[in-house]
Amino acid sequence: MADNKTPAQRSANMRKIRSANTGPELTVRKMLHAMGLRFRLHDKSLPGKPDIVLRRKKTAVFVHGCFWHSHKCSRGRLPKTTSAFWHEKIGGNVKRDRKVRSALRKIGWRTVIVWQCELKDRRRLEARLGKALA
Ligand SMILES: [Zn+2]
Repeated sequence: MADNKTPAQRSANMRKIRSANTGPELTVRKMLHAMGLRFRLHDKSLPGKPDIVLRRKKTAVFVHGCFWHSHKCSRGRLPKTTSAFWHEKIGGNVKRDRKVRSALRKIGWRTVIVWQCELKDRRRLEARLGKALA
């Protein structure tokens, strides 16, 4: 298969591959840990296999890359030249995210989405998570 990705797409791809146990997710985990919260990771027993699961609080935390989950920030906006393939792929992610959230809601779970761009302002993110998980 020909590699017809732009450098930005390629690096987003690399970021995604790395992100399972490093990068934004790890940062959020450390943050929650420092707040004294205990959690499980990638819990397969829940819809969407949430990144971080706080069972006692019945809350699932997802750490989303802005590009991959179409955040309404500058990183989430697709360039005009984006191919149909990428539009479809990311559109599929967004649809799946919505389904997962509603499936969790139906069984009495709350979801908290942490966007990659929020990590730029850690204090603010900490405050938001503190409130959401109080
Ligand atoms: Zn964002």
